[in-house]
Amino acid sequence: MQDLLLVRYGEIFLKGLNRPYFIRALVRKIRYAVRGLGAEVWVSDGRIFVKGFSDLETCIQRVTQVFGVHSVSPALEMPKEDFDAICDQAIAMTRDLKGTFKVMARRSDKRYFMNSPAINEEVGYRILQANPNLKVDVHQPEHAVNIEIREKAYLYVREIPAVGGMPVGTNGNATLLLSGGIDSPVAGWMIAKRGVQINAVHFHSYPYTSDRAKEKVLDLARKLSFSCCGIKVFVVPFTEIQMAIHEKCPEEYTTLIMRRYMMRIAERIARQEGCEALITGESIGQVASQTMQALGTTDAVAEMPVFRPLIGFDKSEIIEVARKIGTLEISSLPFEDCCTVFTPRHPATKPKLEKILEGESRLDGEEMIQRALEGTEMIRV
Ligand code: ATP
Ligand code: MG
Repeated sequence: MQDLLLVRYGEIFLKGLNRPYFIRALVRKIRYAVRGLGAEVWVSDGRIFVKGFSDLETCIQRVTQVFGVHSVSPALEMPKEDFDAICDQAIAMTRDLKGTFKVMARRSDKRYFMNSPAINEEVGYRILQANPNLKVDVHQPEHAVNIEIREKAYLYVREIPAVGGMPVGTNGNATLLLSGGIDSPVAGWMIAKRGVQINAVHFHSYPYTSDRAKEKVLDLARKLSFSCCGIKVFVVPFTEIQMAIHEKCPEEYTTLIMRRYMMRIAERIARQEGCEALITGESIGQVASQTMQALGTTDAVAEMPVFRPLIGFDKSEIIEVARKIGTLEISSLPFEDCCTVFTPRHPATKPKLEKILEGESRLDGEEMIQRALEGTEMIRV
C-alpha cells in the first residue's frame, strides 16, 4: 500500500492538440513545487500522480498552489486482487465521517471480476455496517468514496480544491510594475495564474526611499516567486527622473508624468525580456492617478497592451486576495514608496494631455531614460 496524491487539472484546456503540451508543462511545475520532498511526479492514463513524498500535508499545501491544478485527492494505491482488503481500506477511510455518502467505483480494467455497480453495492453495504453515522445518498452525497480499478486499485475520499488557472509559461510573458503596495502584487499573481510567466520592474528613489523599502519589494517578489516559478526583479533608479519632474513640471501633473515615465521604462525592459504586455495594480477611481482620464494618459505612452486585472475590484476585495496569497502582511509594512514621497497636494483628476506633453517637453526624457536603464539592477528571486 502506498500514499499518493492524485492531481486534477481543468478540462477546458485539454481539448485538442494542446493537451499533451499542457500536461507536460503542468508536470514540470508540480516537480518544481515539490522539490526537496523526495517526491516523484508522473503521468498515467492522462492523470497526474505524486508519490514518494516525505510529508503528505506539505505536499498537498504545495501542489494546491500550482497554477493549473484544480484539485487534489490523497489516495491509497493497493493491489486490486484482494477485494476484502479494498473493503477494509474503504471502511478505514470513512471511519470518522458522518452524514451521507456514496461509493463511486470506476473500472478501466474491464476484466476485473466485479463490475462497477457491484463494487458500489458491496463496498457501500460494508461501510454502512461498520459506521452507523453514515447513510447512503446517491444523488447529493456529502462524501464520495472513490474506488478506481486500474493496474492497481486506488481509493480516495477527500478532494481538496486548488488554485486553478493554467501552468506558468503556457501563455507568454509579461512585465509587472511592482510597487511596495497592496495592489500590484495581487495584479501580478492574477495574471501569472492565467499561465503567464512574469517578471517585475520596481522604481526606487534612493535616498528618498530607503533600502528597506527596496527589500520589502524583493520580499513581495519572493512571496510571489513560488507560484510564479521564479521572478526576475529589475530595480530601476528613479530619483533623477522624479527630481526633474518635481522641479520642472506643473505640480498637479507630477504623479501622472512620473507614471508615464514608469510605463516607458518598464516597456523597454519588457521588450528586452521578450514580454508582450505590462501589468499594473490600478483600479478605476481608487486614487487621483487612477481616474479614467488619468489612466488614459498613462496608457497613451505604452505600445504594448497594459493589463490591469484589478480594474473593477474594490480595495476590500483586493485586500482579501492579498491576504489569501500571503502578500498583505508584507505590503502593510510601513516603508514609503516613491509615489508617496512626491505626492502633489492637488493632483489633476481630469488631466489634459496637452498640459502633460507641455510639462514633459521641459525634460531631457530620453537621456534620463537611458541613464535609468543603465543603472538598473537585476535580482533573481
Ligand atoms: P499599489 O498598491 O500596487 O502600489 P497603489 O494603489 O498604491 O497601488 P499607485 O501608487 O497609484 O497605486 O500605483 C499604481 C500602479 O503603478 C501600481 O499598482 C504599480 O503597478 C505601479 N507603481 C506604482 N509605484 C511603483 C513603483 N515604485 N515601482 C513600480 N511600479 C509602481
Ligand atoms: Mg503605490
